[in-house]
Amino acid sequence: MPVIKVIQYDITALDVDIIVNAANTTLLGGGGVDGAIQRAAGPELLEACRKLGGCPTGEARITPGFRLQAKWVIHAVGPVWSGGRRGEPQLLESCYRSAFRLAKDAKARSIAFPCISTGVYRYPKEDAARIALRVMRENDKDFRSVVACCFDAENAAIYRKLLGSTAKEDE
Ligand code: ADP
Repeated sequence: MPVIKVIQYDITALDVDIIVNAANTTLLGGGGVDGAIQRAAGPELLEACRKLGGCPTGEARITPGFRLQAKWVIHAVGPVWSGGRRGEPQLLESCYRSAFRLAKDAKARSIAFPCISTGVYRYPKEDAARIALRVMRENDKDFRSVVACCFDAENAAIYRKLLGSTAKEDE
């Protein structure tokens, strides 16, 4: 079984050690995947996030998963796309790296990522996927399972193409 898997699914429903959230710098919730994770984890998550006092772009923070199946949530703050000349690629890469660092510290064996920055933050999907998969490949030896949890069909197709996967994993 390959360690990196691409699925098209709701990340809040996954039974993995850690799910990663595409958070914003306030860590106080938002729309998209962040809102879905906050709803599924319950109000304790927002309380825990409030205590963290925010997180700069390109970094990540960890909290328990509360009512989620996942033991932990890593809140990673990706960049807002504004043309690509404001360090967006470096910031996106650094946010995936920070998430892996925290996941290893927590001794997680399985982790799932959404397509960070590709929603409201408008990062071009294929460019974002190349960065995500590169950092995943660099870190996958420390995990049993690294899941690229795409929500929309477009991202799922891009990830599958880039991973060279012909498998039709759907979970
Ligand atoms: P950002 O602000 O980082 O762009 P968004 O939440 O707007 O964050 O979007 C990030 C990605 O998460 C998008 O590709 C979006 O389709 C996806 N997404 C939204 N809801 C979910 C969910 N429940 N599970 C997994 N991915 C999701």
